[in-house]
Formats: sequence, structure tokens, C-alpha cells
Amino acid sequence: MRLTLKKIHLSTLNKYSIRNKTLKTIGITSTIPVEIIYASGNRPMDLNNAFITSQNPMELIRQAEHSGLSRNLCGWIRGLYPLSNKVDEIVVIAAGDCSNMVALADLWKDEKVPVIFFDYPHQRTRNELKISMERLIKHFGTDWNEVKKSRLLLDPIRRKLHEIDRLTWQESKVSGEENHIWLLNSSDFNGNPGKFEKALDAFLKKVSERTPQENKKPRLGLIGVPTIMTDLHKKVSQLGAKIVYNEVAHQFTLPELTDDLVDPYLKYTYPYDTQFRLQTIRTETKRRNLDGLILYVENFCYKNIQNTYFRRKLAIPSIEIEGGNPGPVDDRTQIRLEGFIQMLSLRKRNTK
Ligand code: SF4
Repeated sequence: MRLTLKKIHLSTLNKYSIRNKTLKTIGITSTIPVEIIYASGNRPMDLNNAFITSQNPMELIRQAEHSGLSRNLCGWIRGLYPLSNKVDEIVVIAAGDCSNMVALADLWKDEKVPVIFFDYPHQRTRNELKISMERLIKHFGTDWNEVKKSRLLLDPIRRKLHEIDRLTWQESKVSGEENHIWLLNSSDFNGNPGKFEKALDAFLKKVSERTPQENKKPRLGLIGVPTIMTDLHKKVSQLGAKIVYNEVAHQFTLPELTDDLVDPYLKYTYPYDTQFRLQTIRTETKRRNLDGLILYVENFCYKNIQNTYFRRKLAIPSIEIEGGNPGPVDDRTQIRLEGFIQMLSLRKRNTK
């Protein structure tokens, strides 16, 4: 999907990506230092968001299966696969994310899709991460100065997202679903930060007119990979609870921003070891006064093992639910969620 600048609507030609050259769409498979892509004058597209918000995600799954991908692969992997024809190049996280995605990259490469790898270093050292970022900077033909300029434009947007998060857990003015959608989109700012920020400002204005809700419902955290269930937040709310912590989406916003260009990606917990991730979940569980956790997993995902670890280490009621293909919460999961939320409501009432 190669576009020349003159073909792009003026609204995308904002302060975030003005370069006198061909603008490429760069697919990303998870959160990476996206300021590097903006600094290079190109436009990122989070393939996960493109898949789940597409008109017919199941059709993409069918296309993947038709091309030979096994049903025993997680829904995200199958859904992302056909989207390679929407982008010029794909950045895949080779270390720190998903081993299935690395294997998928081999298929893409075999089909002549340009793929570049990005590593979050296993040891979480600043030096290695900096080298990794430098490799990406070099690949996209930009430099630290340009990256810094991008950061100066993206960070204020991230801070507004942090405010949305605060308004969710502290003032109950933002729903768990709204929080999930806004925060998750910070992986690529929908490919157009200027437009994204405008919509964000309008949303914040609308929220400022809402009255804070009384907080009697059980407060839940949603931990684990982004859910493929299209109505999970809505369902939880209908069943009488509220998700006030979307762990992964919260991490995508880089909660610990500093002036340094590398550090926030060192403090971003998702790609690193489980113990490091646990520390933040523990802190947020306490800070947000959570009553319970939903540990979300995808069928056939290796990250399921991490949930076993969290269950062992966290002294808080939890329920594990498992997604498969995109679609609404299935009946069995709904019944289990109902039981879990009822139990938490009773506990909450009795401990008053
Ligand atoms: S859910 Fe698991 S297997 Fe699927 S893409 Fe994410 S990390 Fe990979």
C-alpha cells in the first residue's frame, strides 16, 4: 500500500509526518518505539487493531486457514496473516513478544513481504535496548534528533491517555471499554496522531461533563494478552462489575514517561520477564483497589503459563478465561463470569 504524499488527504499531513518523500505504511505486530517510524516520515499500522476492527475479522481468519494456517494457532496469528497485503513492510518483535509471530514472519518473507525484526533484550539492559532502537533508526533512515522531535509530539498525547486511565479508576467517569479502546490505540495512534489527538480532546471534553459514578461494583483488572472477545467489557459491566485496569493497554501508553528516549521502553513491562510484569500488576492492583482479576488467555498461546505464575503469586480472587476466534463472549464463559462477579459482590458487601 504505497501512497505518494500528493495522494494523501491533507489531514494526515500534520506535524507528525511531513517528509518530502514516499510515505510507506509500516505494519507492526505489537508495541514498538513507534516514534522511530513517525520520525522517518512513514506511517505505522498496528495489524492487531486493523484485524479486530476490520469489517469482517472472521473472513481474515478464513483466508488464513485457506492459505494453510492451522486452526491450532491463536486467533490473532491467523487474523494478522492476510493483512500483509495492506502494508509495505512489517516490523516483527523477534525477542520479547510472541514466538508464533516470529514463525509467521518466515511465511511473510517467503511471500516477499519485507520484514524487519526488533528485539526487546531478554536481560532488559538499557544498552542492548538502545542498540536495538538504533538498528531500527538506521533501517528507516532517520536519526535520534528526529526521533526526539517525534517523542515531543507523541508524549503529550500519551499523557492525555494517562488522564483517561485516571478518570477510569479514580473518578469512574470513563468506562472500562472506553479505556480499553483508547489506550490500546496508542500502539500506533491510528496512523495519524494529529487526528487521534483531536478525537481524544473531544472525548476528554465530553467526559469532563459526566458526573463521577458511585463505586459500589466490584472493581476488576484485566490481565493478559489483548482480548479477541469483542464484547468482554460490555458483558462484565452488564453482569455488575467494572474493569478499571486494562493491564496491557495501560502498558501500551508507556505509563512511565521520562525525557529519556530509551527508558520508557525499558519500563514497559509486557515484553520482559514475568516477574518484572508481576511487580507492576501488584502495584496497580493495590493502587486501584481491585477486588478481582480476569486472567485472559488465547487458545494455544504460550503466555498461558504466565497466568499460572500470576495466580500463584497474587493474593486476590481471579478467574481465567480463554478466547479463540473473534466474536462475542460465549455462553460458558458468560456463566463463569457471572458466578465470579456474584461471589465478588457478596464479598464486597460483607466486608463493608
Ligand atoms: S495471543 Fe499469544 S500466541 Fe497469539 S499472538 Fe499473542 S502472544 Fe502470540
